[in-house]
Amino acid sequence: MLIALVVANMTYLGSLSAQKKEPNNVEDWSKQPTSIKPVVGATPPSDAIVLFANDNLSQWESLRQKGAPAAWKVDGPQFTVEPGTGDIITKQSFGDCQLHIEWNIPENEVQNNLNFGNSGIYFMGLYEVQIYSSYNDEHKIYYNGQAGSIYKQHAPLVNACLPAGTWQTYDIVFTAPRFRCDNSVESPASFTVFQNGVLIQNHVTLIGPTSHGPHTEYKSHEDALPLLLQEHGSKVSYKNIWIRNL
Ligand code: MG
Repeated sequence: MLIALVVANMTYLGSLSAQKKEPNNVEDWSKQPTSIKPVVGATPPSDAIVLFANDNLSQWESLRQKGAPAAWKVDGPQFTVEPGTGDIITKQSFGDCQLHIEWNIPENEVQNNLNFGNSGIYFMGLYEVQIYSSYNDEHKIYYNGQAGSIYKQHAPLVNACLPAGTWQTYDIVFTAPRFRCDNSVESPASFTVFQNGVLIQNHVTLIGPTSHGPHTEYKSHEDALPLLLQEHGSKVSYKNIWIRNL
């Protein structure tokens, strides 16, 4: 026992001295992280692309009618889903990214509307982080369909929802899937999601695009595609949206 401890200790000291002698073995000087101005309150960091901050939807367009203006209702620093007008998509395309988005389901919308504040953020137009009125699980839905779920694939780790009528945040890290030349999947898409500052999805991987029906399989697609906001008949409001390419 004593001999084993001595040997282990010598090995440890030996490895320490090796590190001291050859510090470059563990020091990474290959790529300096770029200095940026980080988030302070609601202000986007300096390297973010602002997708909505002021009073227009110039970064967005209608999904139904490519090139047509997004028909959702803008009201100062926020905008709201206009039921019946369809989804909206960004004019720019994105692959791996970090997204910040703030959303609010009006109280009367939850009381009067059977969709209970259903909307959602589809990365690449294919992979949905769900928006739904799930405070205290008040409008019961399958767990992998409540707010913060990766729709029909991953329930959130906890329910971090605030009541309807309250602004909430998502901070989402998305990794796009990779495809081989033969269109097979090299690596699946993945999400890490914070809701209102709380980790609710921890690097979960997707089995394919999210879908209301049976699971669908990956189909090879571009490295970057537009971000989509879902119109599901509920008047969900959004504000302060920014994205960082990774
Ligand atoms: Mg949805």
